[in-house]
Amino acid sequence: MARVFSGMQPTGDLHLGNYLGALKHFIPYQEKDDCYFCVVDLHALTVPGDPEALRKKSLELAMLYVAAGVDPNKATLFLQSNNSAHAEAAWLMQCVAKFGELGRMTQFKDKGQGSESVTTGLFTYPVLMAVDILLYNTDEVPVGEDQKQHLELARNLAERFNRQYEEIFTIPEPRIPDTGARIMGLDNPEKKMSKSAASPANYVMLLEDEKTIMKKFKRAVTDSDTEIRFDPEQKAGISNLLSIMSVVTGKSIPALIEEYQGRGYGHLKVDTGEAVIEALRPIQQRYQALAKSNEIEAILTQGAIKAREATSETLAKMKHAMGLVTF
Ligand code: ATP
Ligand code: MG
Repeated sequence: MARVFSGMQPTGDLHLGNYLGALKHFIPYQEKDDCYFCVVDLHALTVPGDPEALRKKSLELAMLYVAAGVDPNKATLFLQSNNSAHAEAAWLMQCVAKFGELGRMTQFKDKGQGSESVTTGLFTYPVLMAVDILLYNTDEVPVGEDQKQHLELARNLAERFNRQYEEIFTIPEPRIPDTGARIMGLDNPEKKMSKSAASPANYVMLLEDEKTIMKKFKRAVTDSDTEIRFDPEQKAGISNLLSIMSVVTGKSIPALIEEYQGRGYGHLKVDTGEAVIEALRPIQQRYQALAKSNEIEAILTQGAIKAREATSETLAKMKHAMGLVTF
């Protein structure tokens, strides 16, 4: 049985990219593996935001995990800040991580844009992410393609710690899906779909109403050609629609290309919109039911207890290996 860990930030609203690139793939693991799924609320603090909104978004995200199929009887679901081992281990690991390697993280460069006034948390957050994973002796981490570099850092830090101090950490493997690992913005298929995108035309939110979803797909930016072909370089918009359609319906991309040959972009856009609406409908229904109950509180309380139990030994080993004395 493998140990599986993954997390998502409670900033903004979850979008189709988060679902198709990550969340959807969490579900099958819980049938056979020991899974820890986390709302990484400490990560959300790296950019300024409203405390009340963060509280609300954290619970919403936890409910979305369950609505999308995470079963609290099979997997552990918890809020990162409820297990203080994460913040504590992050400090220890910051004393192993190098300034230079953190400066090379492309997400920091993108989000920080060289500004002097970004928080130091935004700079050091990949270290927190590394210990999120390492504290659970994780074997596999299902994530989208944009997290590849952060996973590489987590592996490097684990190896360095093991060499420098003691062999404590398992070296985690990223699990990036073949299709859907990088869903692109509907308004700009050159950039990834993102919660922090400037325009809402960029993303489809998991809880968005059907009419708006369809409108966004109909307006999805494509090219001025008419040929349906999978070519993310030359035909980013069409390739993005094909990827979305493929993950949502389970049909292969070549099969979809054949099906839509000579039928024009309009059909593909509408059918993709419809397939997405169909896929999201049961998630939205389960979410509405959960939001009316206070079930999530008991789930997260249980999850926090299990998460603390799972990490206490590794944290103690880490401290001891580094020379800290505990009474
Ligand atoms: P932010 O812009 O605030 O960083 P985000 O949309 O990148 O938000 P995260 O919470 O950082 O969301 O990521 C959660 C998970 O979703 C990660 O596994 C990440 O790789 C995945 N993910 C994010 N965006 C996409 C995308 N466009 N396509 C596929 N997977 C994605
Ligand atoms: Mg992100």
